[in-house]
Amino acid sequence: MIYLFFVKHYSTVWIYCSFSTVCILEQNFDGIILICQSYEQLPDELECLKAPLQDYSAVDCCVGEEISLTKIRNVTLATKLNKIRNKTNALLFLLLCSLVFDFSACLYQCNLVIFLCHQPLEVREHKSSPHKVAVLGIWVKNQAQGEAVTELATALESGRLVYRDIGGSDPERMAAPRVAEYVQAVFKDSPVTVTVVSNLNTLEKEYPCLAAVNRCANTVPRHQARVIKLLYCGEGPIQQTLMVVGKGITYDTGGADIKAGGIMAGMHRDKCGSAAVAGFFQILAKLKPKHLKVVGAMAMVRNSVGSDCYVADELVVSRAGRRIRVGNTDAEGRMVMVDLLCEMKEQALKEVSPQLFTIATLTGHAIRAMGPHYSIIMDNGAAQRSGNALQWQKAGEVLGDLFEVSTIRREDYEFHKGKSEYEEILQSNNLPSSATPRGHQTPAAFLIMASGLDKHGVDSDKPLPYSHIDIAGSSGPFPGVPTGAPILAMATKYLEL
Ligand SMILES: [Zn+2]
Repeated sequence: MIYLFFVKHYSTVWIYCSFSTVCILEQNFDGIILICQSYEQLPDELECLKAPLQDYSAVDCCVGEEISLTKIRNVTLATKLNKIRNKTNALLFLLLCSLVFDFSACLYQCNLVIFLCHQPLEVREHKSSPHKVAVLGIWVKNQAQGEAVTELATALESGRLVYRDIGGSDPERMAAPRVAEYVQAVFKDSPVTVTVVSNLNTLEKEYPCLAAVNRCANTVPRHQARVIKLLYCGEGPIQQTLMVVGKGITYDTGGADIKAGGIMAGMHRDKCGSAAVAGFFQILAKLKPKHLKVVGAMAMVRNSVGSDCYVADELVVSRAGRRIRVGNTDAEGRMVMVDLLCEMKEQALKEVSPQLFTIATLTGHAIRAMGPHYSIIMDNGAAQRSGNALQWQKAGEVLGDLFEVSTIRREDYEFHKGKSEYEEILQSNNLPSSATPRGHQTPAAFLIMASGLDKHGVDSDKPLPYSHIDIAGSSGPFPGVPTGAPILAMATKYLEL
C-alpha cells in the first residue's frame, strides 16, 4: 500500500489526504519529482516509470547526470485535487523519496523540493494565488514514516517561510515596526510569547549601543527600531536553556561610513540573523519540544544615514558599562546585538544549563574566508569545552545546513582593546572586514568584551557558554531567496530530529 501526504505552508489551509492507489501514473499530479541513484533500480511499485525513462534517456544523455524534465503521460485530475487546482491555479507535484527509505534523506529531499516551491511574501500579498505549487505529495511506503516526515517537513518549512518572509522582504515591507506586527501575528495563539520594546527611552536606557545606531532612523516613524523578545518554555522540567540574539538590520546604508561605489544593494538582507531567530521559534511552536526553554531577541534597527546619525569617533557606554569608541558605523551589527547579549548574560545566571548565541549576517570577511555557502560558528572557552561548534557542524550535515568552525584567538581581543585612555574598547577598525585580517573572528571578541561575557570565561566562577554564528555567506544570494541557514542545523541539534 502506498500513502501520499501533503505538506502545506503554515499560512494556508492544511490539506491532508491519503490514497491507497498503487500506480503512480494514475495519481493526479502535474509532475513527479524522482530523486534516485538510477532509474534502473526502481522498486516494483514504480516499475511503470522505467520504460518511459528508458525511452527518454535514449535521446537525452543528461538523464541520470543532471536534473531533467520529461513528460511521461497526460494525466487527468481527479475530483479532489482538481478542486484544489481550480481554487489555487497552482501546480501539484509528487515527490518520490529515497527508494530505500532513510528518514533523514527523505526529510532532506522534502525540504529541498519545498524550498523550490517558495513564493516570496510580496508576491503572495499581491497575487490572488498564494502558491505556485499547491500540493506537494510525498510518496513513501509506510504510513507512520509518511506522517512523521510530513510533520517534520511542515514544521521546518514553516520556520524557513517565516525566515524568508522577514529576511527576504524589502526594507519597507519589513521595516522594524512591520516586522514586529508580522511576528505578533505569526505567534498569536501559539506557545511562543512575544514582547515588543518600542519606547525610545527604554531603548536608550537598556540598549545604549542599539540606540546609537537607531538615532538617525528614529527621526522617521516608520523606520523606528524595535526589540522583539520571544520566549518558548517546553513542558516538563527544563533541562536546557538556549538564549539567542539575532541581528536585524532592516537596511544597512553603512551610516556615515556610507557604503559607496554600488555595494549598498542587497543590504535589506542584513536582517537574516533576526529572521533566523523568528524562524527557529516557529519550528518550536510547531513541534513543541519538551524540557527545552528558548529565549530569543530580535534587534530590528535601520542603519540610516543623515544629520542625526551616529558617526565614527563617538564614545558610547554599553549596558555592561564598557566605554566603546566607534571606529566605523558600518560595524553596526555588533552594536545592535551587544546590549541584548549583555541582558541575556544577566538572565543566564538564573537559568538551567544556559547557552548563549548571536546569529548575524555580520561580515564580508566570512564570505571571503569560507566562500559564499557556509555558516561560520565560533565558541568561547566554555562552549568549546563542550565541543559545541563541532556539534553544530555535525548537526548541520544531516539536512545540508553546512558550517565551518573558526576559533576566537587572543589577537582578536587585543584588536578591540582601546587605543587610548578615552576608550576601553574599540568597536572596529576603519576598514571593511573583508580587508581586515581575522575580520570575521574579531567581532566575536568584541561581543564578548563589550557585553561583559569576558567575566564569564572558563577561568571564572560562573562560566557561560557562548557561540557566535556568522551567516553572511550562508543566508542566501541577492538576487535570490534566503536559505534559512542556520535553523535546520539548530532544529536538528536541539530538537533531536
Ligand atoms: Zn554594516
